[in-house]
Amino acid sequence: MNWTRRGFLGRSLAGLVATIAAPRLTPAQSPSRPGARGAAVLCSRGETWGRKVNDPAWKILGGGGASLDAVIAGANIVELDPEDQSVGYGGLPNEEGVVQLDASVMSGKLKKSGAVGALERIKTPSKVARLVMERTDHVMLVGEGALRFARAHGLEEANLLTEKSRLAWLKWKENLSDKDDWLPPADGVYAEPARVTGTINVLAIDRAGDMAGCTTTSGLAWKISGRLGDSPIIGAGMYVDNEIGAAGATGRGEEVIKTCGSYAIVEAMGRGTPPEQACREALQRIVHWTRENPDFDVKYVALRRDGEAACVGLRGRKDKPPQCSIRTAAGFRVINGSYLYEIPGTAMR
Ligand code: ASP
Repeated sequence: MNWTRRGFLGRSLAGLVATIAAPRLTPAQSPSRPGARGAAVLCSRGETWGRKVNDPAWKILGGGGASLDAVIAGANIVELDPEDQSVGYGGLPNEEGVVQLDASVMSGKLKKSGAVGALERIKTPSKVARLVMERTDHVMLVGEGALRFARAHGLEEANLLTEKSRLAWLKWKENLSDKDDWLPPADGVYAEPARVTGTINVLAIDRAGDMAGCTTTSGLAWKISGRLGDSPIIGAGMYVDNEIGAAGATGRGEEVIKTCGSYAIVEAMGRGTPPEQACREALQRIVHWTRENPDFDVKYVALRRDGEAACVGLRGRKDKPPQCSIRTAAGFRVINGSYLYEIPGTAMR
């Protein structure tokens, strides 16, 4: 292969220069004025969780509060609810049966971000991510160090593994292989438990025109201990630029990390691409890097600074489109998003 280091560096540099030189609209040129439609909060889920998350967030925004407070208040609802098995307390554990949480926060106003990865024993990783942002000179803490940092700030510790999630893990473990010594109960009718994925993104703009974002998750169920997904990676699972907008990701984190998904969406919006098209282009990049009609899903949500929102999934069905929800002064609204591939089948929509 004719692939010299000099050639590689030359090509990389050319790419970088092209990226930096790509036209970026100044706030004055941009068609979207900050908060043109007033304050808004967007949650990456539809009706049920969307209302639960958007209500407390909107209470803050509607009262003139800050977008950062709003997104974390919204995220905390899911983190603290044991019924949700993909975020916070009650999340599905890793392959060793230990719940490890990832979260990130970003403040457009402060131009700062914070994140935690593989955090154990703390129900609200988004709060710890905020503390990393506001009370350290770092951006990310992981594992034992993140837990010690949370302890230093007095966060309460708890066993995050609920009985429901322990049983789901045990079923997975006992059915994993016939070459190990774990056996399902002889009388048990054991359905293979679904490998639930989840995550929640909350993005907001407040009355002052400042944006913030939060992504929080227990990550991929049964993951290898210490695995980080996209959620705590700034620019992958979430990204905010006060002058442009914000984006967040759910689904197969490995592909989102490789393609810098949320950053790519915000940058595209900055060049004038509408939010929905920006999400589609980021998904098409994943397809380009993997395969046509992939058997995994990724969903992107985007909130432009004027309040224009979008939600696009890799996969969907006409009767089950990817959804997100938005709350503004006009009320609560579920957004039925578009998708690239119909399940099952290969038709582009
Ligand atoms: N994006 C998350 C991760 O890869 C999982 C998910 O959203 O389902 O950790």
